[in-house]
Amino acid sequence: MEILRGISVAPGVAIGHAVVLEAEDYRIPYRSVTPKNVPRELSVLKAAFQKSIDELHHQAATVSTTLGHDAANVFEWHIGVLSDERLRSSIEQMIQKENVSAAYASSTVMRNYQRRFMEMSDPLLVERIRDVQDIERRLLRNILGETREDLGHLTEPVILVAHDLTPTQTARLSATKVIGVALDAGAATSHTAILLRSWGRPGVIGLNDVSTRISGGDTVVVDGTNQLVIANPNEATLAEYRGREQAFQRHADELVGFRDLPAVTRDGHRIQLMSNIEFPREAAIGVAKGSDGVGLYRTEFLFLRPEGAPSEDEQYEAYMEAIRGAGGRPVTIRTFDLGADKYTQQRSYEQERNPMLGLRSIRYSLQNLDMFKVQLRAILRAASHGNIRMMFPLINSLMEFRQAKMAVHDAIEDLEEAGVHVRKDIPIGMMLETPAAALQVAEFCREVSFISIGTNDLIQYLLAVDRGNERVSQFYEPSHPAVLRALREVIQECTRCEVDCTLCGEMAGQPLYTMFLIGLGLRTLSMAPANIPEIKKLIRLITVAQAKRVARRALSFETDRQVTNYLRDETRKVLPEDPI
Ligand code: PEP
Ligand code: MG
Repeated sequence: MEILRGISVAPGVAIGHAVVLEAEDYRIPYRSVTPKNVPRELSVLKAAFQKSIDELHHQAATVSTTLGHDAANVFEWHIGVLSDERLRSSIEQMIQKENVSAAYASSTVMRNYQRRFMEMSDPLLVERIRDVQDIERRLLRNILGETREDLGHLTEPVILVAHDLTPTQTARLSATKVIGVALDAGAATSHTAILLRSWGRPGVIGLNDVSTRISGGDTVVVDGTNQLVIANPNEATLAEYRGREQAFQRHADELVGFRDLPAVTRDGHRIQLMSNIEFPREAAIGVAKGSDGVGLYRTEFLFLRPEGAPSEDEQYEAYMEAIRGAGGRPVTIRTFDLGADKYTQQRSYEQERNPMLGLRSIRYSLQNLDMFKVQLRAILRAASHGNIRMMFPLINSLMEFRQAKMAVHDAIEDLEEAGVHVRKDIPIGMMLETPAAALQVAEFCREVSFISIGTNDLIQYLLAVDRGNERVSQFYEPSHPAVLRALREVIQECTRCEVDCTLCGEMAGQPLYTMFLIGLGLRTLSMAPANIPEIKKLIRLITVAQAKRVARRALSFETDRQVTNYLRDETRKVLPEDPI
């Protein structure tokens, strides 16, 4: 049994056999073979080794003539690994002793081999890990040929283990039999984490090397509540987790009862709970979970597809689907937030050195005005049919907000010239996600229709911690007193100026912060639909006076640990049974 600790994306327990997804979509299920078929597996293995070595000789020769001998050395090293008799005989022995397929044995042995490199102290040797992965992929490709399976063909519930998932792979999970996910990469507010949260099943990410520690077919427990992944649990642990799985299901069933109840505090204050969505179909899913509308539609996910940017009509159709799904409730469309980890790096000739501080969000939109205006026209056309608000991401200066508004006016003119009727009174707001914007909130309040606080980014810029980097995730701390104080300033100023203020970062969906945020004066929170029932339950158990007391006290601490401990105690008093 092996216990690994990472970062949770969604609570709950999932138990199943692992499917390990390789970077190139190889999944290597545990497959036993009858003793009669062992010779066949051995000959498949032999042929795959030979084919891999032949390919590498060919590649080395080509590279040597085009790029020189040094470049060809890389392939010579790969040939050396594959020619190592000990490696091949370890795989052969596993096939013979354990009666397993050549693919499964190769993947397991190569994974151990990778781990040995990972544990080496010489950084040059650690670098070799990529080469070892490359060798494994080549070998597996030659073993599996065209028989590799994709996740769409799974026939039984599985736990998906991978190094990382692309947004496209993550978005497809709901159409598969995957019941839990464990990833090497990712941090709490990385975009894969956000997509996994909207998928709603238990997941733990940022596990560093889970994909080399678990092999296809291993029994795995994903404990999303306690941020753990347990590989090959012993009998007692497995039994305990089966009990927890059932308890969590009972808890989820109980929460369904909150769906049609309003989020009202015990002293009568109505709190709006909105959904964060990435795909238009989720607007209806949010309503089914009891939301009051869409508080953040991350439209950039429309762009994250192999074909690239969608046309104006395709965008219009997507916005219309969200409007229909929300059934007359408000829908806040955020203009595309591309850049940083999304879209632009893959498309640019030279990657930015520091993309989180680079050409992202509204900066990218204002430098790609034609593309931006296509989206603005689509939003404006859809706005005639629904209760739409529009907001821009990562506004950092008044000039940016003004320029973005000017682009909206241009788009209105374009449409009017084309004879399209346009609603001109659509509320235009900003996402407040940088320390600069927080410090200038008073000025922004004079110009915007509303402010939505994006704590995912605000925290990363305030604390100088890359939100997607698992190596620094211990420093990414919403409870940091500086974060709490920044939120207090922004919310107080918006309240004073009577500017509608929402919070749509992941904090909004964490019960730990609900009383704090309401105590500061927020009356609208936007979160992943999966979080709505729990937050609603909590709100119905508290009073605003109590929340104010909690906020005041939380703001009096000097360290994040004190804040977290205090908020956890207070939340447990209200929700003693629930996982927090
Ligand atoms: C945020 O930064 O808090 C936010 C909601 O936007 P995103 O997570 O899409 O960057
Ligand atoms: Mg953001």
